[in-house]
Amino acid sequence: MKILLTHIKELLQVRDTPVERLCGDQMKTLPTIKNAWLYLVDGKIDNYGTMDALPNLEADKLINCSGRTVLPTWCDSHSHLVYAGNREQEFVDRINGLSYQEIAANGGGIIHSAKKLQATSEQDLFSQSENRLNEVMRLGTGAIEIKSGYGLTLDAELKMLKVAKKLGEKHPIKVQTTFLGAHAVPPEFKNNKQGYLDHICNDMLPKVADEKLATFIDIFCEKGYFTVADTYQLLAVAKKYNLIPKIHVNQFNAIGGVEAGVQHQALSVDHLEVLTDNDLLALKGSKTMPVALPSCSYFLSIPYTPARKIIDAGLPLALATDYNPGSTPSGNMNFVVATACIKMKLTPEEAINAATINGAYAMDISGSHGSISKGKSASVIITKEIPSYAYLPYSFGSNLIEQVIINGQLMIKKI
Ligand SMILES: [Zn+2]
Repeated sequence: MKILLTHIKELLQVRDTPVERLCGDQMKTLPTIKNAWLYLVDGKIDNYGTMDALPNLEADKLINCSGRTVLPTWCDSHSHLVYAGNREQEFVDRINGLSYQEIAANGGGIIHSAKKLQATSEQDLFSQSENRLNEVMRLGTGAIEIKSGYGLTLDAELKMLKVAKKLGEKHPIKVQTTFLGAHAVPPEFKNNKQGYLDHICNDMLPKVADEKLATFIDIFCEKGYFTVADTYQLLAVAKKYNLIPKIHVNQFNAIGGVEAGVQHQALSVDHLEVLTDNDLLALKGSKTMPVALPSCSYFLSIPYTPARKIIDAGLPLALATDYNPGSTPSGNMNFVVATACIKMKLTPEEAINAATINGAYAMDISGSHGSISKGKSASVIITKEIPSYAYLPYSFGSNLIEQVIINGQLMIKKI
């Protein structure tokens, strides 16, 4: 299938020489071509250029993008998209004054989701999750990381990862999977956290690795969940199975999880709403990507990740959704990009870089996704007619997407 996009008002994130990730000041620059064409062949970016030098190219589909901006699809490097049911009652409880921690203490939160998921068949879980995936693809996400962690038993964790893998096989979107058995301690192991950690290390991890169900390992390193010592134990075992760490740290408290992640060559450390100078120091010179999840801060009314501090310290930053039923029931990366600009003071250039190439890095796919570069996946967003790319975060509540192409496939059927 050959698709030719012509008369593109502005083609964003064009990288003739592909980059792995962008740090600090590099994030301020978003390379673009005005009045451009883009040629997609068999699911890959074949070539691009300016309209005054458009060669004679044959195409199965010709799309006139006049007045429209084209950019690489979003790379959402942190999601819990596979889950069963919803938790809107907790949302109402929070409006009425209960905190996230109080809800968890009353048997809500992650444990509630786990019970529901354990009782849901694989097929039902797949179809619920597929609906969410279809929605995020139409919202412009072309690559996504999906975690387990709402199973908390061997069978249920494997069920989640199988569903996530199958979603990636059945759809053009790139799916990377993460084993998050250490998301919370299940009631069966109440007062025996060590017993649950041993169960993860001795029973779950070998199975996950054996069936090749995950690329990454994750742990919720936080007061009331898992300690830094737990994190060290789990990551050391996961290393034997070649699982790369991507970990939840510093959502409510800075307890040393960032340093633990960096020491284990974590690909990313995610959340960071609370960040100390020591954490910043630990990240400097490392290969670890800090990941901010602004929709979670918005939904829980907790502080936003100090993104300016991170970028101004010369570090990279990626943006992701944290799509999950408890703290972020939204997989909309457009909202994430807008919120990063509005609440975290990122420039549109920084936010778009954080949500494309740096998001790809945080999933270990920056060689194939995250920029307009020859040979990369033919995954692009075509906007509606907009005056400039700054209009994307500015007009934050509007759906500005006209078409999404993922791996060469058109996602939105026009009437
Ligand atoms: Zn999360």
